[in-house]
Amino acid sequence: MLQIFAAHPDVYFQVFTNGHFITDDVAAELRRLGNVTPLISVEGSEIVSDTRRGRSGVLSQTMLGLQTALRHKLMVGVCTSVCKTNIDDLVNDAWVDRLIEMGVMYCWFHIYRPVGPEPNPDLALSSAEQRRVRQFVVDTRVNKPIVVIDAYHDDAGNALCPAVTGFTHHIGPWGDIEPCPVIQLAKESIHDDRPLAETFNDSAFLRDFRELTAGKTRGCVIMERPDLLVELAERHGARDTTARKKVIDELKKVQPRRSQYQPGDEIPERSFVYRWAKKYAFNDFGAYGRHFDASQYRDPDNQTQSYESQTASGPSLPVTKV
Ligand code: SF4
Repeated sequence: MLQIFAAHPDVYFQVFTNGHFITDDVAAELRRLGNVTPLISVEGSEIVSDTRRGRSGVLSQTMLGLQTALRHKLMVGVCTSVCKTNIDDLVNDAWVDRLIEMGVMYCWFHIYRPVGPEPNPDLALSSAEQRRVRQFVVDTRVNKPIVVIDAYHDDAGNALCPAVTGFTHHIGPWGDIEPCPVIQLAKESIHDDRPLAETFNDSAFLRDFRELTAGKTRGCVIMERPDLLVELAERHGARDTTARKKVIDELKKVQPRRSQYQPGDEIPERSFVYRWAKKYAFNDFGAYGRHFDASQYRDPDNQTQSYESQTASGPSLPVTKV
């Protein structure tokens, strides 16, 4: 990767990493190149625990990588996939204060999504816990001298999915063009014999993904409506882009749950800077205005079964809680 960074000095890279490979040599080279920011994933609470215990313990490799990057004066971010086991330790002022004290420039809280080959639904946040994280992000943006990233809300707190708005799509390790990193389905590839912009813009699969999803939810489709992705894949004959080749089965097993879309509980930005930036530079770009139909929204909090168990017991969807 160092060779790729060096070959493209006109590009600024953000590297999602657990920090284990950030040695002094690597950090020094990243500093010399000057076009990379490591975003280090911290899922535990070593620092908070050490502080709480009043002694410094043995830091994990992740924390060593973080400290090495900071020592070499890199612009470093810390991201956390918030779940039931770390929400109390990491979604609080003490943790953010510690990051600021260390010299971390930005942090990113996203919620754990129980999807993929080994989902753990017991770790997923409830709707109330997700609202707690959102409130914390909004408050921290006002109260603390650190940038807080969040890609799932506009200035007024309306939920959005950056793949549905067309703000981002994803290129997998084999060049497949996927709706987003966790939706591993594709029709097109960067190796197709067309200019890349044309491949993206003319993709009927991606266009249908955006319109179908925007029409039925403002949240994360893989959490709220995995059945739509199964339907989409079948309609387009999309290929499974994973090595394990079990994506459709995995989607059918996902138990729908709410994500960032918490209708009626929108929490607007309090910070003028974030409000302004989101209003003009990061919003839904009209996607939901054009396509969202509230009557098509199916509230996952009122469903209890996966697509697979629903279709096994009969064709009627959704199953409503009693
Ligand atoms: S589908 Fe879900 S995980 Fe993918 S970009 Fe949208 S909100 Fe994020």
